[in-house]
Amino acid sequence: MENCKVIAITNQKGGVAKTTSTVNLGVGLAMQGERVLLVDADPQASLTVSLGIKQPDELQVSLSTVMQAVVEDKPFPQNYGIIHHTESVDLLPANIELSSLEVSLFNTMSREYVLRSALEGVKKDYDYILIDCMPSLGMMTINALVAADSVLIPSQPNFLSTKGMNLLMRSISRVKKQINPKLRIDGVLLTMVDSRTNNAKAIIASLRSAVGENIRVFDTEIPHSVRAAECSVEGVSIFTHDKNGKVAAAYEKLTEEVMQIEQRSKDRLRSDGVR
Ligand code: ADP
Ligand code: MG
Repeated sequence: MENCKVIAITNQKGGVAKTTSTVNLGVGLAMQGERVLLVDADPQASLTVSLGIKQPDELQVSLSTVMQAVVEDKPFPQNYGIIHHTESVDLLPANIELSSLEVSLFNTMSREYVLRSALEGVKKDYDYILIDCMPSLGMMTINALVAADSVLIPSQPNFLSTKGMNLLMRSISRVKKQINPKLRIDGVLLTMVDSRTNNAKAIIASLRSAVGENIRVFDTEIPHSVRAAECSVEGVSIFTHDKNGKVAAAYEKLTEEVMQIEQRSKDRLRSDGVR
């Protein structure tokens, strides 16, 4: 049985720590012995750059090459385009070519399924595939939601209960209804949290309970820290850059939560199978 869990890390708002969370959750999972592939689904290529590839546009093969091969129904090698990173995660990188690929998808048959097909062959090699989405609800993000088993939504607390979140929820439920009924929301991850004052703590607590009625909010909060921002410049995760700091501790805790969710869903499947 296939055991790979695909998580889309998504929020159409930019700058909410999608990419940062993809890197650090990915490396966190790898540190627990999980086999992890990170997929850069943003033509801005921040994930690719964050993992130390400074000139993504010079890559011969990237996600858009693989997706183009799927569109043209051409065979491609196993592990096509996949790069190994020193922190035991693999990367399927992106570059600017992904933006024209996304536009061309509109005239493609089964356009929502291209990323899913692109990843199908490598799923057996990984326990987790994390897709770092671009800040939009366009065709690439829809492709990510179709390829995914679940969604993780990073958000700064002050953007939580806004119109943007409702639009995102609507896209997710449309994909779930029409294409991918198994899609689940793992939860909202509060990022760049500054809870030093009692007032900030009170605001976060009330947001949590308001949002929490509809969507799960992870217990873990990622604190605001310049340390987190420094990593991407160095091309490493927080576990290498500042392993004893509070951000590393938070991502470690998030990793545990994510693994628990996966364990529970496996247990559920197993007991369903027994019945
Ligand atoms: P997105 O992918 O959603 O656009 P990024 O992960 O690129 O967001 O993060 C946006 C900016 O915020 C980056 O400059 C990043 O380094 C910074 N950042 C991310 N997490 C934190 C944090 N916990 N504390 C402070 N800055 C952060
Ligand atoms: Mg990003």
